[in-house]
Amino acid sequence: MIETKAYAAQDENTPLAPWTFERREVGPNDVQFDILYCGVCHSDLHQIKNDWFPGIFPMVPGHEIVGRVVKVGENVKGFKVGDLAATGCMVDSCRVCENCKRDLEQYCLNGSSQTYNGLEQDHKTPTYGGYSNTIVVNQDFVLHLKEGVDLAAVAPLLCAGITTYSPLRHWKVGKGHKLAVLGLGGLGHMAVKFGVAFGADVTVLSTSPKKEEDAKKLGAHHFVVTTDPKQVEAAKNTFDFILDTVSAEHDFNMYLSLLRTDGVHICVGVPPKPAQIAAFSLLGGRKSLAGSGIGGIKETQEMLDFCAENNIVSDIEMIDIKDIHTAYDRMEKGDVRYRFVIDMATL
Ligand code: NAP
Ligand code: ZN
Ligand code: ZN
Repeated sequence: MIETKAYAAQDENTPLAPWTFERREVGPNDVQFDILYCGVCHSDLHQIKNDWFPGIFPMVPGHEIVGRVVKVGENVKGFKVGDLAATGCMVDSCRVCENCKRDLEQYCLNGSSQTYNGLEQDHKTPTYGGYSNTIVVNQDFVLHLKEGVDLAAVAPLLCAGITTYSPLRHWKVGKGHKLAVLGLGGLGHMAVKFGVAFGADVTVLSTSPKKEEDAKKLGAHHFVVTTDPKQVEAAKNTFDFILDTVSAEHDFNMYLSLLRTDGVHICVGVPPKPAQIAAFSLLGGRKSLAGSGIGGIKETQEMLDFCAENNIVSDIEMIDIKDIHTAYDRMEKGDVRYRFVIDMATL
């Protein structure tokens, strides 16, 4: 077994603290890589707080993981010791269901193995995430990174990147579309970058007037302060798509009124409480309310390659792991500029 250093929450009321545990030995199809950087996703905070469902504790969060390979199993093709490697939100899936066969492992009908707060495919062994010094992952769930990239700024692509890239690709958002990105945080700022790269006219819908300058620097064409009724009124019936990255309770009916006829409101944010949606908000204008979860492994690699070719990375604030709770506090207040990334050398 591989002795592993980590930061873990022992239960939903206890702050993260140093913890050691054992990872499995590197099997024939496994890649072990030492973790250099791990992004901090709002999902980490939701899960250690049991916002969505009772979690598996001790919990080692982290699913935006980049590092270098230290060991490979005998059947591993495509990775060798010293290579860069990355893992996102999943470490395995059943491989045989209809969705796995369509490269949609995130929607595995038998349950994909989440990188942490999940179970391996034996459906009993808990998974532990990237707030740790090393990880062992089946080769099919390890992504390739190009040498020379800013590794810390690439880490958030593994969740914030793919979660916004995938729906924009699925709905073919691009030239001639008006895209609204709702919430300018980790996911939101990546959605702006992709929306702009795909040729859409991009508006940020934000509760934080102070983020306007940043939004424009990220490439957004317009900025609407959603707490200002005049600005909201002026934005009614204007967007083809809203990509909703909000992590907390919000008024869907108000945002649906900003869509044009046939517009689509795509949920990627996962507030803890279910929302109230009036049928009238959808039927007037034949609007759709949709959702999207991360992305499959093939599409994640495609997104990483697209980012490398187009010089797209995340805007990050690097933190020492002992400051994780300050980072969570700021995240809870919507004050993330625009992704915290843990320098794992501080573990
Ligand atoms: P984040 O960095 O904290 O960003 C969320 C943003 O939402 C905030 O910066 C804020 O932007 C806005 N916001 C917060 N509270 C709000 C409120 N009450 N009303 C309106 N806007 C509000 O979080 P993140 O890491 O981007 O994650 C966002 C959500 O996506 C989380 O729920 C996370 O769990 C979920 N997620 C889903 C997937 C998936 O597969 N679908 C993957 C990853 C994450 P402004 O200051 O601009 O208003
Ligand atoms: Zn995430
Ligand atoms: Zn499956």
